[in-house]
Amino acid sequence: MLRDDFAGSGGRLLWAGLIWAVLAAAAACLILAGCGRGAVPAAQAVPAIPARAPSAAAAGVPAAAPGASALDWTIPQQFRGHVVAKRVRFFSRRLLALTFDDGPDPKLTPQILDLLAEHRAHATFFVLGETAQGRGDLLRRMAAEGHVVGLHGFTHVARVTPEQAAASLDRTAAVIEKATGRRPTVFRPPYGLTGSNLTRMARRHGYAVILWTISSADTRPIGAPVIARNVIHTPNPGDIVLMHDGSGHRATVEALPQILRELGQAGFQFVTVPELLRAWDEWRAPGQVAPETYRAGQERDGG
Ligand SMILES: [Zn+2]
Repeated sequence: MLRDDFAGSGGRLLWAGLIWAVLAAAAACLILAGCGRGAVPAAQAVPAIPARAPSAAAAGVPAAAPGASALDWTIPQQFRGHVVAKRVRFFSRRLLALTFDDGPDPKLTPQILDLLAEHRAHATFFVLGETAQGRGDLLRRMAAEGHVVGLHGFTHVARVTPEQAAASLDRTAAVIEKATGRRPTVFRPPYGLTGSNLTRMARRHGYAVILWTISSADTRPIGAPVIARNVIHTPNPGDIVLMHDGSGHRATVEALPQILRELGQAGFQFVTVPELLRAWDEWRAPGQVAPETYRAGQERDGG
């Protein structure tokens, strides 16, 4: 009896202790707002285009700092070594990836960077190693302001031997890495040629080969209004837009404010290509987002 009473009393004490522990844990959870589902809305509330943080980037904050998605150049594993030639069907987030090839240009690229900053937009610059050499300040500025620097080859020659292709990629990556301290992850083949040794070698090196799903056609003499219309016309969520910031592409710079303004008003956010790939990866609709989805594109003008 005595033993039972004692045991009964101990049991009650144990229950009371447990209840207190549960209540205390729940209170701590509410206070910290970091428990269970409470953390999910907070994470989702982080804007896809975070506020610019040039000083943080310059201070050497790790690329994958929380909430600094644009400063992260990494790409999901499934895209490494694959050609991305079309957007994912049914993807509904209104994200667009503006891309600029053939730069950087000492006059035009800073103007593009100013416009992107003004509109809190991020973009991807596929630079030529030869052109980027000696313009480390521009590459540094791109990286610090949340843009991604990708490879476009050392020169704009598409047809090279495998050895020349490897050297072209390595030399360009070295120029980017020296200036920004980051390893590039994305490559755009000159002229969009996916059958070239350059593309083959880029895939072997694990770069994602990024084509485009909308061309601004800004390599043709069409003027800013037509360039703007080509981009603004009917973008779909997840489109990748081909533009150029190489020497002579003044009309592209002139078209950019209208593109940023009108598509921004239409609810689009301008993200880097790695951000877009990560958004696709997170989205993962059933039966979608398999590497096979990203078939090689055809050779097209531009790039
Ligand atoms: Zn090009």
